[in-house]
Amino acid sequence: MNQIIQTSQCIIGDSILEISYIIASLFFVFGLKMLSHPDKARRGNLISAFGMGLAIVTTITLHKMNGEPIGNIPLILIAIAIGTVIGWTIALKVKMTAMPQLVSLFNGMGGAAAALISLMEFPHIKPELIAEYGMANGHVLAILLGVMIGSVSFAGSMIAFGKLDGRIGDIRAPWLRYLNIGLLVFLLCIIVFIMVTGTSTEATAPYVYTLFTLALVYGVFFVMPIGGADMPVVISLLNSFTGVAAAMGGFLYNNQAMLTGGILVGSAGTILTVLMCNAMNRSLTNVIIGAFGGQAASVDKVAGAIKEITLSDTAVLLSYSHKVVIVPGYGLAVAQAQHLCHELDKLLEDKGVEVLYAIHPVAGRMPGHMNVLLAEADVPYEKLIEMDEINPDLPNTDVVIIIGANDVVNPAAEDDPGSPIYGMPIIKAYEAKNVVVMKRGMGKGYAAIENHLFYNDKTRMLFGDAKATLQKLVSEVKSL
Ligand code: NDP
Repeated sequence: MNQIIQTSQCIIGDSILEISYIIASLFFVFGLKMLSHPDKARRGNLISAFGMGLAIVTTITLHKMNGEPIGNIPLILIAIAIGTVIGWTIALKVKMTAMPQLVSLFNGMGGAAAALISLMEFPHIKPELIAEYGMANGHVLAILLGVMIGSVSFAGSMIAFGKLDGRIGDIRAPWLRYLNIGLLVFLLCIIVFIMVTGTSTEATAPYVYTLFTLALVYGVFFVMPIGGADMPVVISLLNSFTGVAAAMGGFLYNNQAMLTGGILVGSAGTILTVLMCNAMNRSLTNVIIGAFGGQAASVDKVAGAIKEITLSDTAVLLSYSHKVVIVPGYGLAVAQAQHLCHELDKLLEDKGVEVLYAIHPVAGRMPGHMNVLLAEADVPYEKLIEMDEINPDLPNTDVVIIIGANDVVNPAAEDDPGSPIYGMPIIKAYEAKNVVVMKRGMGKGYAAIENHLFYNDKTRMLFGDAKATLQKLVSEVKSL
């Protein structure tokens, strides 16, 4: 009788676990959907986090392995507590401008976790499975791909973190491309070799560790040469790698929540990578072998002189225009001047000026950075116009005002084949009737190259920190 009760309890527990995974997966899907609009994004994030919390709690309490509940619960809880405290503290302290680095760091942790899961599970592959199918089976393949992709994602994300944080520079050399192709082919050969010739997990363990180590090396070398305007593509690719590696873990444990979460991250990251590649005019193959952009920086000597404009002249120019387009960039985020920017735009609209924002897909330091920044200041979404849509309108625009942007308006992308950003589509600010550039000095952008636009006859520079300058400009416009 006791056994019957235990068995039925076990079945009920398994069913609740399965149902909780389905609910968690639904929460992930709805949460992700809500992330596509700034108004609902915060709620979407919370909904997905709730789904993840549910999956964790039910796994700890209900999961059984060979009929036994999972052990080491105190250790698991301590690990969760430590991770929560570290994550919470970092998230509270991080500055808005350091968010891209943080995202890279978190992404790398996901990749590392997926690789470690696979490494730990490899020795536990059932000997019966190997006896029946050999090593060439889906289970082994999922583990090996988890090791490889997770390690690449971890190492690559750490280098991306260092680059975004300005701690690591680009290393470009033609031989790196060949080294990366060689490493990638070698990694795939190791996987095939293990699956075809392997007889037991003990015998193949050294090859799995070689796979792990070389995947880390590849992760470092494939992100090392990426620089200039190409980092966003790599960041989204690494994101998709982490998703795919996590999905391998889900497949391994037959865990629907992990599988769905991994597939969602992997596919969203892949779609974003393809969109970024199109937006940046780059090829995906080139990203994977780390061969990006021009090899040499363009000639940094620029003919012509810069011309400045005063605050009052800028206020007059803007107030008596019909159409003004604001190009926000990384400097706007650094200065945290988005609220003032919106105030200026409302003042101008009150004076009958049409004001729009031109959004470049890689402006700032993370995908969608400008959308998030301007949404925070309640700029209506309809005013944010994508680059391809706004460019044809720019010849009819009276003033383009560039606030803390540089690379995304740099004409070198169109006319300097030696430039690391050559081929990247830009916001064609130079086509407007007047261009005002708001920045602190003649500092370069992320790609570290000169910008000929600043020396253009139509361009006037309004030097100063974006927040301080916008504050004064708002007062000037009010006083007119
Ligand atoms: P840039 O990095 O090209 O330029 C930013 C400019 O802002 C600088 O030239 C700087 O000039 C100015 N600036 C900095 N602080 C302030 C401030 N407080 N007030 C006013 N101006 C300031 O930015 P963009 O947005 O044009 O381009 C983004 C770049 O970052 C691209 O190259 C992109 O590829 C890269 N990138 C983008 C990622 C993404 O996912 N979006 C990820 C990684 C890289 P000064 O010092 O003179 O003030």
